[in-house]
Amino acid sequence: MSNCAIVGINWGDEGKGRMVDLVTADYDVVVRYQGGGNAGHTVVNEFGKFALHLLPSGIFRKGVVNILGNGVALDCESLWTEMSDVMDQGVAITPENLKISDRASLLLPWHRDLDSLEEARLADKKYGSTKQGIAPFYSDKYQKKTIMAGELLYPEKLWDHLAGILEWKNLTLERVYGAKPYTMDDLKAWVTEFGEKIKPFICDTGAFLRQAQAEGKHILFEAQLGSLRDLDYGIYPYTTSSNPIAAYAPVGSGLPTAKLDKIIGVVKAYSSCVGEGPFTCEWFGEEAEKLREAGGEYGAKTGRPRRVGPIDIVATRYGIQCQGATDIALTKLDVLSYMDEIPICARYELNGQETDAFPFPAVLPDAKPVMTAMPGWKCDISGVRKWENLPEAARNYVEYVEREIGCHITYVSVGPERDSIIIR
Ligand code: GDP
Repeated sequence: MSNCAIVGINWGDEGKGRMVDLVTADYDVVVRYQGGGNAGHTVVNEFGKFALHLLPSGIFRKGVVNILGNGVALDCESLWTEMSDVMDQGVAITPENLKISDRASLLLPWHRDLDSLEEARLADKKYGSTKQGIAPFYSDKYQKKTIMAGELLYPEKLWDHLAGILEWKNLTLERVYGAKPYTMDDLKAWVTEFGEKIKPFICDTGAFLRQAQAEGKHILFEAQLGSLRDLDYGIYPYTTSSNPIAAYAPVGSGLPTAKLDKIIGVVKAYSSCVGEGPFTCEWFGEEAEKLREAGGEYGAKTGRPRRVGPIDIVATRYGIQCQGATDIALTKLDVLSYMDEIPICARYELNGQETDAFPFPAVLPDAKPVMTAMPGWKCDISGVRKWENLPEAARNYVEYVEREIGCHITYVSVGPERDSIIIR
């Protein structure tokens, strides 16, 4: 049996979806273990191009069982929309290939409202939330003020539980934000419409995973976002509200005893970041515009232009340490082909001193990038499939990054398609 996690090393959007889609051929089960529908994994394959938000990226592979673990924020409404879109494009989704943990907590309609209300209250101090309700959802989960998906299977108990939560939540909506309260009828209508849709997929996924483990099945754990957005280890408070790090995979998946044999950390050949918060290597103006265009850096969920810059060695090295990555997938190398020189943020300067250490969040905004550069290759590399066929300058860049980050770059991605990959 071999277990593997595919995780983001930076701020998210590193290309995890394309990596999961690629390697699922070797796995029997793919589990999403944290996060919700607030980010997007883009997958391009024989069925078309998809922006997945909550569905595991193994959903396109025949014979692969996909699981939404207990650690995810389960928004039945947006999940059902996503499932319908994917099914409309010819992909079968059945209780055989998608299983939803009965212990996954439900993101309820007011979580999205509260997200928007709080961002509006913060005004120019906002966190840059995608307003999908993720932060209010996780707060409520840890306050034990939401319900688990499995409760949908016991309606006689569900309504009582929901009524108690409704009463409490309306206090916040009305008294703190002056917003419209919810009624039990609103909630019942929502649960009946969307809860019913996902009910056939809900089961004891912990039992399924334990059985799969006992049978020696190969399990792949799929993360959302990246190390620097981790609630505990990231750039707090500009993090997400869950733990994208691989160490959380066993807990959030439903298989707390799982051992990870391989951790593939996904790193983009340059940097991108959505939302607010310090982004030391950020570019502005024309050079940022050029890189954003070349890389198509617009949010998969929101369409927002992403902030971009050169690769950040300091942040990447730290991100790898948080993940315990055993292998790196370096994606979007092809995007840099237009550059005469490939810029690299090699170190930071903090308080007049150069450093290799990733600063504590409170002082991170004071850090300045210390730049270096390597020669570019100035030719199209998107058709290259063998390491030795890459131009020497491209190989030099990959080898430089590998040395600096201290982890083997096993995969080099040169295009979004499944086969646009060089395996070293
Ligand atoms: P994820 O959330 O980490 O899966 O990343 P996203 O899907 O948000 O962003 C990655 C984007 O880059 C998607 O549009 C992918 O199709 C695309 N992509 C992934 N790898 C490559 C690559 O090597 N080259 C190019 N040109 N695009 C890529």
